[in-house]
Amino acid sequence: MRAKTELKSPLEKVDLKNLSLLELEEFIASFGKERYRSIQILRWLYQKRIHSIDEMTNLSKRLREELSQTSSISTLHPLKVEQARDGTKKFLFQLEDGNRIESVLIPDKARLTLCVSTQAGCALGCRFCLTGRNGFKRNLAVSEILNQILSVRETLTGEKSITNVVLMGMGEPLANYKNTLKAIGLMVNPDAFKFSSRRITLSTVGLLPELERLAQETIQFRLAISLNATDEESRSHLMPINHRYPLNRVLEACRNFPLRRRARITFEYVLVKGVNDSSQDARRLLRILKGIPSKVNLIPLNEAPGIPFKKPSEDKIAQFQEILMQGGLTAIVRKSKGAEISAACGQLQGKEGASNIDFLQLQG
Ligand code: SAH
Ligand code: SF4
Repeated sequence: MRAKTELKSPLEKVDLKNLSLLELEEFIASFGKERYRSIQILRWLYQKRIHSIDEMTNLSKRLREELSQTSSISTLHPLKVEQARDGTKKFLFQLEDGNRIESVLIPDKARLTLCVSTQAGCALGCRFCLTGRNGFKRNLAVSEILNQILSVRETLTGEKSITNVVLMGMGEPLANYKNTLKAIGLMVNPDAFKFSSRRITLSTVGLLPELERLAQETIQFRLAISLNATDEESRSHLMPINHRYPLNRVLEACRNFPLRRRARITFEYVLVKGVNDSSQDARRLLRILKGIPSKVNLIPLNEAPGIPFKKPSEDKIAQFQEILMQGGLTAIVRKSKGAEISAACGQLQGKEGASNIDFLQLQG
């Protein structure tokens, strides 16, 4: 099978980074070449830092020529990189069509986590999230998801390398299901990025049809659900998607979700003052998560102009966490990283921000 038109770049060439291993094998077979060549190509694309087909020196010159005529290798360069005092770096990328997306690199002890975007904007309009308030532009291609990792990795010469990837940047990953799953497939492929599946986390509001579809997949990664409330009314208030996919059905899908032994679902809970931060909420959270292997990430709201909410006091946050832990639930308060450069959760807008703290470089 020739790769489908949607996989082609504007030049009508196939962007090799849009192809899953299976698609690459089919593409290579269409030239009458051996399938194992596709493993070699994967290694060039994702393990060695090459930018042109001609650099794939273990392929015959003939194959390289054929590939060059029909395919291309896309790249992504940061337009701007900002660094916060806590070491968090925010990368702003401009896509070929002018849309802008962001990725955030978060150092934390032995870990170096990259938070990538899966859409330009987001259609779901959660009321506490700046990405959501700015509306939806489009889904990212597989290559645009993967190029965020490759591009950031290139800036890390000599430093430690990326240890974890979280799909928690701009967009709702399950609303871009096919491309997101293909990208994860390449992240965990031993001949591509080679990440352990335990080091990839996808965060979703819990789109029900896609969660059900996901339950059938063999691919492994960590699942995080943005819960953010313990009753239908306040969840609908914060997240309009709750009208379509209500909390109780999301929880039911989680309860039925096939997890590997000892695996747990992470529930993200943005703490919003006066909306979902009472001790009654904490106790209800314990109750509704009963029977689901879970842990909870408490994220004190990152405030921003235009967001009509406040974050709770430190005391209130500690009290909420304490109730969960007393009830036997693992609950971590996520320290907000990169807030001063608007790189924290829910602050990604794909715009050049007003901040100029520790401005590092401007390229392109
Ligand atoms: N769309 C997906 C993934 C991107 S959002 C999702 O919603 O899960 C990643 C996380 O940031 C979500 O858990 C979301 O609840 C959280 N978030 C969004 N806006 C925030 C804000 N202003 N403060 C703190 N966390 C926020
Ligand atoms: Fe979209 Fe997630 Fe922001 Fe909601 S929190 S608007 S789903 S990016």
